[in-house]
Amino acid sequence: MISNCDCINITQGKKQNIFYNFDDIKKQEENKEILILTESNVDQYDLHNENRRQNISDDNALRENDTQTVHDNRLKTMTSFYKDILISIGEDPTREGLLKTPKRAAEAMLFFTKGYEQCVSDVLNDAIFEEKCENMVIVKDIDIYSLCEHHLVPFFGKVSVGYLPNAKVIGLSKIARIVEVYSRRLQVQERLTRQIAEAIQEAVQPRGVAVIIECAHMCMVMRGAQKVNSRTTTSAMLGVFRDDHKSREEFLSLARFT
Ligand SMILES: [Zn+2]
Repeated sequence: MISNCDCINITQGKKQNIFYNFDDIKKQEENKEILILTESNVDQYDLHNENRRQNISDDNALRENDTQTVHDNRLKTMTSFYKDILISIGEDPTREGLLKTPKRAAEAMLFFTKGYEQCVSDVLNDAIFEEKCENMVIVKDIDIYSLCEHHLVPFFGKVSVGYLPNAKVIGLSKIARIVEVYSRRLQVQERLTRQIAEAIQEAVQPRGVAVIIECAHMCMVMRGAQKVNSRTTTSAMLGVFRDDHKSREEFLSLARFT
């Protein structure tokens, strides 16, 4: 599912893109050794597996097979790094208000990125149904909360998803679950939009899929341009929605954000 998007930057990443190979930790775990990543041993976890890097942009969830021990290791590692971040910004991590902050921040970051714990096929399960419905299905105004992969700060807003069934429909609540899987990862809005559309395309092979997302990006609001009221809109149109302007307009008028 790799296409011409920002994700390519990741796959071509050099040394500055460090990925921890938690498979190694799992192996160590089998040998009853518990490892915590530190700055000095981080290199051994630099990921040489190019396939794995590419998978970041598709629906293979990187943390899907985590055991409790691996999860605990992630938490410990991140907690220690957050403590360093506090020191680096000039704070005192031993003052009362900050004592538990590194662990809280680590837990929050794991939650914000819990989309890596699931892949779309897990979410869909058996929620695909044979159905003669030919009318447009739209689920609109689904809330999304994601993290911009360039600054690790939130972007959030709403997404509307529509498709024209072709003998198969998808459980309605599953559309929101697909959105959740992809938005709870490090993202750029353009890729998120495309991934949601492609996931629905793959799941039910409809005549067309349309996805439109409108978000406020905290990296624009709080820093840089400081465009407080700006919103970014992205859309992905597949099949009929791309080729037939009537279908596209029907979707856009029905899905208009409230
Ligand atoms: Zn950003």
